[in-house]
Order: sequence, then C-alpha cells, then structure tokens
Amino acid sequence: MAILDLQKRVAFITGGNGGIGLGMAKGLASAGAAVVIAGRNKAKAQSALSELRSLGAEAEFADIDVLKEESCHQAIEQAVERFGRLDILINNAGTTIRKPPESLTAQDWHTVMDTNLTSAFLCSQAAYPYMVRAGGGKIINIGSMMSVLAASYALPYGASKGGIVQLARSLAVAWAKDNIQVNTILPGWVDTDLTRKAREQVAGLNERVLARTPAQRWGKPEDFAGVAVFLAAPASNFVTGAVIAVDGGYSVLA
Ligand code: NDP
Repeated sequence: MAILDLQKRVAFITGGNGGIGLGMAKGLASAGAAVVIAGRNKAKAQSALSELRSLGAEAEFADIDVLKEESCHQAIEQAVERFGRLDILINNAGTTIRKPPESLTAQDWHTVMDTNLTSAFLCSQAAYPYMVRAGGGKIINIGSMMSVLAASYALPYGASKGGIVQLARSLAVAWAKDNIQVNTILPGWVDTDLTRKAREQVAGLNERVLARTPAQRWGKPEDFAGVAVFLAAPASNFVTGAVIAVDGGYSVLA
C-alpha cells in the first residue's frame, strides 16, 4: 500500500540493536526501508543485522554512544554516507537507574537524563539538515507510561520521558515548515532486557503488570512494528506532535 510504503527511505534507530528498537526496525525493514541500527553492543547488533537482512532489507550497524554529542553526529553522518540520505529517525535508546529519590546521585540523574532525553535532542539536531535536504522527514521519540504516570523508583526516568514528549511537540511545531513530522510513542510494559532487570529489582512487578494491563500480557517488541511504520510513512503526513500509547490499554484502565 503506497501510504505505508517505505521503499527508498532510510531509517536510523538508536538502540535498534535489540528490544523495542529492533521490533520497530523489523517493521520498517518489512515496509521496504533501509535501516541503520545504532548502539554500543556489537554482538547484539550482529544478530539484529542477520534478522533484518533475512527480511530482504538493507541494514547496517552504526557504533554510537548517545551520551556523546560527537558520537551522535558521527553515527548519523556515517548513515548518510552509506545510504545517501536520511528520512526517519527513531530516538529509542534508553536506560534507567532504580533508586528512591533521596538516594540518587547527580551522576545518576545525568546518566538517565542524557541517555533518554539529551540524546534525542542531539540526534534530532544532527538529522535535521539531511531531512531538510530530502524534502521532509519523520522523527519518532520513544516515551513511556512514565511520561504521564509516576513511580517512586523512577524519578530521572520519568523526568526524561516527560521531557521527551515536550521535545517532540516543540520540534513538531518548529519543523512543520520543513515537512518534518515529530511524534512520540508511549509503550506500556514490554518484555525486553530493560524490564527483565526491573522484574528482578521490583518485587511483585510481573503480577502487577498482568493485573493492570487490560490485554492481560506484557508487550512484545513486535507490537511496535506497525505503529513505527505508520509514523514513518506518508500515511501519517498530517500527524505531528501526537502522543500515541501502545500499551494494551494500561493507560486507560480506571
Ligand atoms: P533495551 O535495554 O532492550 O534497549 C535499550 C537500548 O538503548 C539498547 O539497545 C541500548 O543499546 C541502547 N542504549 C542505552 N544506552 C545507550 C548509549 N549510551 N548509547 C547508545 N545506545 C544506548 O530496552 P527496551 O527495548 O525496553 O527500551 C527501548 C526504549 O523503550 C527505551 O527508551 C525505554 O525507556 C523505552 N521503554 C521501554 C519499556 C519497556 O517496558 N520495555 C516501557 C516504556 C518505554 P546497547 O545495548 O548497544 O547499549
């Protein structure tokens, strides 16, 4: 379907080497995009590249540490050198440090804020000139239920995920003139490396998630393939600054 066709489009996904990022990368690859998965862990990336290439997609790995401005610029330039253009950026890299507010250090705060929020600003800025050159673009930020809800163990995470929604809205307003749409996905609880650690660290979490999610299951990375294609494709050309929950109904249960 032309409105969901991503042929000749090039996508750059931070943290695309695993978890939700890889789930979205597979969606974009299936719709015809060339995909650059950017992260630190090369072993994970190798198996992600095999999966993406088995879908018939062109796929490459870009080494990136999103905590470093220079690295964000270099990785995006590398993607453009390889594929000649950049149309889609997914700001997905994320981390958390689970501690009560009173125990957090300033370094903890900066690590989480810089990984989750500052990186999205830096990568968006790095991608902007290439999207302008391409005549438009799509930026997809990954927020969280913690963009709107709160947990006692997730202070910097919640602040960063609240911030990433406003980052997307501000960019949506500023860059609409350039035909760049910027939207945010809010995942519910999804079974990935990040939450496997949470289940070890937060007592009773698994049971609470199952009881609180109307779909009665954890999300899977594949659950994000369709929404990523929609937000990356011409189908969403008049959708910008939007916030879309993909959470099995978690956020609407009274
Ligand atoms: P993963 O741990 O699988 O993915 C996180 C990704 O971020 C990894 O691929 C990792 O790459 C990358 N990353 C982290 N720090 C850096 C860094 N400094 N430089 C480059 N890459 C980095 O977890 P998820 O798939 O769950 O998380 C993906 C996104 O989804 C995150 O933003 C997370 O906050 C969000 N999210 C997840 C939810 C869930 O329930 N799982 C719920 C709501 C939001 P590498 O391994 O190479 O370092």
